[in-house]
Amino acid sequence: MAETLDIAIVGAGITGCAIARQLARFDLSICVVEAANDIALGASKANGGLVHAGYDPTPGTVKAQVNARGCELYGTWAQELGFLFRRTGSMVLGFNDEDRAHLEQLRQNGLANGVPELAIIGPERIHELEPRASAKATCALWCPSTGYVDPFEVAIAALENAVANGVTFMRSAPVEAIEVAGSDDGAACFTLVTPAGDVRCRYLINAAGNGAADISHMAGAEEFQMVWRQGNIVVLDKEPRALMPLYPVPTPVSKGVIVTGTVHGNTVITATAAVREPGDTQTYATDVDALLTGARKLVPDLDTRRVVRAFAGGRPVIKGTNDFFIGQSAVVPGLFQAAGIQSPGVASAPAIAERMEHVMREAGVALHERNDWDPIRRAPDDFDRAPLARKKELIEFDPAWGQIVCRCETVSEAEIVAAIRSRPGAVSVEGVKRRCRAGMGRCQSGFCQSRVMAILARELGCEPSEVLLEDAGSWLVEGPLKGVH
Ligand SMILES: Cc1cc2nc3c(=O)[nH]c(=O)nc-3n(C[C@H](O)[C@H](O)[C@H](O)COP(=O)(O)OP(=O)(O)OC[C@H]3O[C@@H](n4cnc5c(N)ncnc54)[C@H](O)[C@@H]3O)c2cc1C
Repeated sequence: MAETLDIAIVGAGITGCAIARQLARFDLSICVVEAANDIALGASKANGGLVHAGYDPTPGTVKAQVNARGCELYGTWAQELGFLFRRTGSMVLGFNDEDRAHLEQLRQNGLANGVPELAIIGPERIHELEPRASAKATCALWCPSTGYVDPFEVAIAALENAVANGVTFMRSAPVEAIEVAGSDDGAACFTLVTPAGDVRCRYLINAAGNGAADISHMAGAEEFQMVWRQGNIVVLDKEPRALMPLYPVPTPVSKGVIVTGTVHGNTVITATAAVREPGDTQTYATDVDALLTGARKLVPDLDTRRVVRAFAGGRPVIKGTNDFFIGQSAVVPGLFQAAGIQSPGVASAPAIAERMEHVMREAGVALHERNDWDPIRRAPDDFDRAPLARKKELIEFDPAWGQIVCRCETVSEAEIVAAIRSRPGAVSVEGVKRRCRAGMGRCQSGFCQSRVMAILARELGCEPSEVLLEDAGSWLVEGPLKGVH
């Protein structure tokens, strides 16, 4: 009989990883159970990375409460977990009187939601803040607290920190059934049935993104349906100066097409919103057109020929509500839901985790702080950003630091090895990319992919033909590669 853990968290997206990190400070045995072979392979890998400030959600909703608080917590989380976060501020651009009235409404929302320092500004201030913003903008909502991150870096950093504090990670373990029974002391006991083995736990947290309705159903809890609100995104090559996030006036279901910089200096145009078949991650020409048109309205000089990548993801929306569902199940005590975490799930993640702690405490879960909890995760060395003296030091320590594998992003062999050896480490080419950016640049891995494959094969002790691009079954080659041993 498997050991009974205190908590199992289903889903290693940004929500599950943030919750794992939050709960790792307590004297509890915790396992994160993930269907895919790595962290952040759901919505958390395919989004705009914006840490929205929180003026958009309707006051009083759960979203409104966790968005502004999440944005506030990002400064501390970034410092402790060593991920890149830029609090750049943002503007919602208005072009006429109708827009101005809408901006005022957003400002009122923001005030009610606790968003600091919002102001309506005019053309002169707009161009001071972002000289590339459209000269046709007559007004804007200035919001200094907005920022951006690499969303998968946040999830990886949070889970690495949780694992360093004793949390276990079970990958390639899709939960296929859940048995609920009483335990000896009368509390509920869940058994998660997965092809990688069963997991028994006293408390279950459902952070399964687009799989959340299935998990709830398997546990005999609330019945709801997920809607796949798909969004296309395009990434442009790096700019000498990253753009401040510029938003249009939002629509009832989406924040509209936003142009933003990234922590690495690229430009991102995000995101369309259309209900599509679950699992659809195709990009659509019509969506890409809508992105480019929308972006040019905000930044007329944007050179849209500089697109290096287009991708898509699905927001996990609960049918019939536009809000998050965070709380203990009313049907199955001991099951805690973090479901329907559609946008702004990235911005809200630290606060969703904080709220989950609060909900569990209220439900009577014993949360005793450990005295050896370490909140700090040391970020891996980044060769490209390191000062010259540090570069020299690293190469002297290990010549693999001087072997540049990804030329676009200046990623060394040592960083790729570190990404694979980290805990939980990369097991695929894309997993390496998300951890150290090899393949993330202008050529999109055209140059370095075979070398990354060779390093993965060497480190994982397998043949290059067994190396995966991403999840199970995504082999890249059928036989030996010329020159790769
Ligand atoms: C196009 C787009 C743009 C967006 N832009 C932004 C933005 O700029 N800012 C922002 O704040 N938010 C944004 N979002 C929203 C954000 O991406 C999501 O809110 C967030 O990633 C949700 O994270 P999650 O962990 O809840 O879900 P996910 O990341 O989907 O993670 C759920 C995990 O559960 C796993 N799982 C599912 N079923 C099972 C099972 N049966 N067994 C085991 N594991 C299972 C999945 O494999 C997955 O890894 C955007 C979303 C999209 C699609």
